[in-house]
Amino acid sequence: MDFSEVVKFHGHVCPGLTLGFRAATLVMNRMELSRSDDEELVAIVENNSCAVDAIQVVTGCTLGKGNLILRDYGKQVYTFIRRGDGESLRLAVKWQPPTEDAETARAWQSYMAAERTAEVMTLIKKSKNRKIRAIQEAADTDLFKVGKAIEPLPPKAQVFPSLICALCGEKVMAPKIITQNGKSLCRPCLEAKNPTTAL
Ligand SMILES: [Zn+2]
Ligand SMILES: [Zn+2]
Repeated sequence: MDFSEVVKFHGHVCPGLTLGFRAATLVMNRMELSRSDDEELVAIVENNSCAVDAIQVVTGCTLGKGNLILRDYGKQVYTFIRRGDGESLRLAVKWQPPTEDAETARAWQSYMAAERTAEVMTLIKKSKNRKIRAIQEAADTDLFKVGKAIEPLPPKAQVFPSLICALCGEKVMAPKIITQNGKSLCRPCLEAKNPTTAL
């Protein structure tokens, strides 16, 4: 898989995407996989950053197929488990970006404070490019702490019948229905209103 295909899918080149590409490539090589056609490989990602797009393109684990699972922990941790033999890899990003010079450090502060002048943006772009290059050139062991999965293999994606929410009348996957005072509700209806008064 070529990096340019990942960039095409994501829309821009950035350090996060580059890291995700390295993670996905490492997994494909170590586990001797070809792109997941169905559910053979399961990816569990602990953030929803740019890196996840690279993982989807390279591994074929996607949200829609149910073999990409998002745990929104805000951690740069990516776990891959193969169905069948349970072979797994857990990658925790340990890479540290190169130290910035004082001028670039100030530019990042301005950038974070939404102060995005042309001068600031030029420095940020240069800084990002340095990071991308550093990630591309780093050894796997400088990028990731590599281990085995620490959570069990999630169950296969299942198809469930739809039920109708008593409040909005919209279809809801059966296991996601919440019963409140004898009424079957979708979560948005349950959380937006007090069902005891709304119904
Ligand atoms: Zn990005
Ligand atoms: Zn509803």
